[in-house]
Amino acid sequence: MQPIIGITAGEVQNYNFPYLPATQGQRYTYVDAIMRAGGTPIIIPIIQNDTVLRQLYDMCDGLLLAGGNDIDPTFYGGSPQTATNPTEITSPKRDSYELRLTEWALADNKPLLGICRGMQLLNIQLGGTLYRDIQSDIPNGKNHDISGSVEEVIKKVHQLRIEPNSKFAAIVGKHPLGANSQHHQAIKDLGDGLIATAWAEDDTIEAIELPNKGYALGVQSHPESMEESVELRWRELFSSFVDAAAIQQ
Ligand code: MN
Repeated sequence: MQPIIGITAGEVQNYNFPYLPATQGQRYTYVDAIMRAGGTPIIIPIIQNDTVLRQLYDMCDGLLLAGGNDIDPTFYGGSPQTATNPTEITSPKRDSYELRLTEWALADNKPLLGICRGMQLLNIQLGGTLYRDIQSDIPNGKNHDISGSVEEVIKKVHQLRIEPNSKFAAIVGKHPLGANSQHHQAIKDLGDGLIATAWAEDDTIEAIELPNKGYALGVQSHPESMEESVELRWRELFSSFVDAAAIQQ
């Protein structure tokens, strides 16, 4: 049996039917990346009932925290968000269900991979904070919201430098690694026990991990969108995650 990887959902309003409730789901690229790596993906619905959520969580051998909109800043000590563009619309229901799943996975040492927002969520669960907007909040902050179309998201726009003494380096190698970039927020203070393991040219944190946990990693870019055609080393990230989940079975 292949290991089951739970992928967290987002919620999206279908503007053809604005009077209907939002739709839950996740992009094909996450499902495809897990399948390529030999995992069996399921998308975990956003629910607030811990008993039911726990049942779904227990079915999973690994947890993938997917990308998405901004996390409500009140979860890391900030004032509430005032949405000025669509990526800044928050979903407190999604935030709280993902924080609960992350709390459980960390307590159980269940393999955990955070992508983009998912990396930021792992940081917040451990008490870390975010820059709410890189270009507004960091002096000389560079634009990291570059990969804005299907054609662009598969391209490398940064070169990441990698901490050689890290699990991340053991997985993807220690040489500079090309990455896409589709985020306007970044990690400010690291959460308890986390270390940074990759940085963009402007020193924005692009990967984190918990050195004292079995498998708990996060990346700021979207390797699931580019790994196939552009930078094969990212494929090792998904393989290592699914392999770690296989040991949990
Ligand atoms: Mn970036």
